[in-house]
Amino acid sequence: MIAGEYKQMLGQKSVIREIAEYGAVRAKEIGSENVFDYSLGNPSVPVPQAFTDKLVELAQSPNPAAVHGYSPSLGIDSVREKIAASLERRFGIAYRREHIFMTTGAAGAIAHALRAVTVPGDEVLTFAPHFPEYVPYVNKTGAVLRVVPADTENFQINFSEFKKMLTAKTSAVLINTPNNPSGAVYSEDTIRKLAEILQEKEREFGHEIYLISDEPYREIVFQGVNAPYVAKYHPNSITCYSFSKSLSLPGERIGYIAVNPACPDAELIVNMCGQISRGIGHNCPPSIIQLAVAEVVDMTADLSVYETNMNILYDALTDMGFSVVKPGGTFYMFPKALEKDAVAFCKKALDYDLLLVPSDTFGCPGYFRIAYCIPTEKVQRSLEAFRKLADAYK
Ligand code: PLP
Repeated sequence: MIAGEYKQMLGQKSVIREIAEYGAVRAKEIGSENVFDYSLGNPSVPVPQAFTDKLVELAQSPNPAAVHGYSPSLGIDSVREKIAASLERRFGIAYRREHIFMTTGAAGAIAHALRAVTVPGDEVLTFAPHFPEYVPYVNKTGAVLRVVPADTENFQINFSEFKKMLTAKTSAVLINTPNNPSGAVYSEDTIRKLAEILQEKEREFGHEIYLISDEPYREIVFQGVNAPYVAKYHPNSITCYSFSKSLSLPGERIGYIAVNPACPDAELIVNMCGQISRGIGHNCPPSIIQLAVAEVVDMTADLSVYETNMNILYDALTDMGFSVVKPGGTFYMFPKALEKDAVAFCKKALDYDLLLVPSDTFGCPGYFRIAYCIPTEKVQRSLEAFRKLADAYK
C-alpha cells in the first residue's frame, strides 16, 4: 500500500518551487533576461576559490578511501574539531568536537534536532513569518508545529502571543535569525527576552524547552546591524547551521548541529543524532565535502552583492509607496502587498514578469517575498516592472 499522507502532500507542493517552475517555462518563451525571477533563495555568488581548490586537491587524493569512504556517523573527527574551534574563536563558547554533529545542510540539522528533543504529540513553536518547510520538517516527526502570529511592526517577536501559546506541551521553540522571509535580524533584546521566558517556563513546567536556532543566514548581515549569537543566551540551545548560503553551495548539502556545551545533555544529544540518522537513513554526509568545507570554515563567499541589491530595492520600493521593514540581513525582503490578497497581488505581478512569492505560505498573509539573490543589473532592470505594478494600484 502506498503511503497516503505523502500522496496527499503532492497536492500541497511548495508554492515557491511552483513559481520557479513557471519562471523556467516563461524564460523559454521570452528569454530568461526578461523574467525577473525573485522566487528562489538560490545563492548567486561564486563559491570561494579556496573551497574549489581544496575540492580538486581532495578529488585527486592518492588515498581514495579517506575522501570517498563513508564518514563516521557523527561526522569526520577532524572536521568536527575545526568547526568547534571556529565557533569558540568567533563566539567565545567552549565547543568541542563532542558538541558537533555533521549534517546535510540546515534541513538535515533541523530534522535531527527535532527528533532528538521531541516526542510525538509535543508542540514546537515558531514565529511568523517562517520558512514554509518548517511545516513538513516538524509535522512529519509526530510533533505539532504551532505558529505564533507575526509582530508586523518590525518582524521581531510577538511576545504577548508567544506567552499565550507556550504551554507545558511545548518542548522546543524553532527560530530563524537572520530571517527568511523578512530579512529581520533578532536584536539582543529580543533574544534575551525570549531566553528569559524559556528559562522561567522551564522552571515552571519542570522540563527543558530547547531553543532550536536555524542559522543558514548567520553570515549575511548588513552594515551596522548586530546579529547576536543565539546560543549564548539559552543553555538548552541547538544551533542548526548550513554552509549553503555563506559559501554559496546549497547543492553540496553540508551543515552541522552545534549543541551548546552548557546544555546538560549536550553530548548525549549529539550521540543520539547518530542513532536518529540510522532511523531516518539520512546518514554520513559526503566525506569529501566535509573535508573541503573544513578548509574554509572561517570564510564566506563575497556576499556584498546582497546588501547592494537590498539597498537598491529598498530605496526604490519605499519611493514607490511600498511599506517595507528594512532587512538587516539575508537576501530576502518582505514588503506589504498592495492589496489584501497577496496571492492575487503576486498573480498580477506576473503581468510584468515579476516572480514574487505570496506570504500566505510564510504564515503571515498580506505580504510578499522578494529573494534578491540575482544579479544587480537585473535588479535594476526590474524596477520598471515594480513601478508598473505599483501604478496598476493607483
Ligand atoms: N532554513 C531556512 C530558513 C532556509 O531558508 C533554508 C533554505 O533556504 C533552510 C533552512 C534549508 O537550508 P539547507 O539548504 O542548508 O538545507
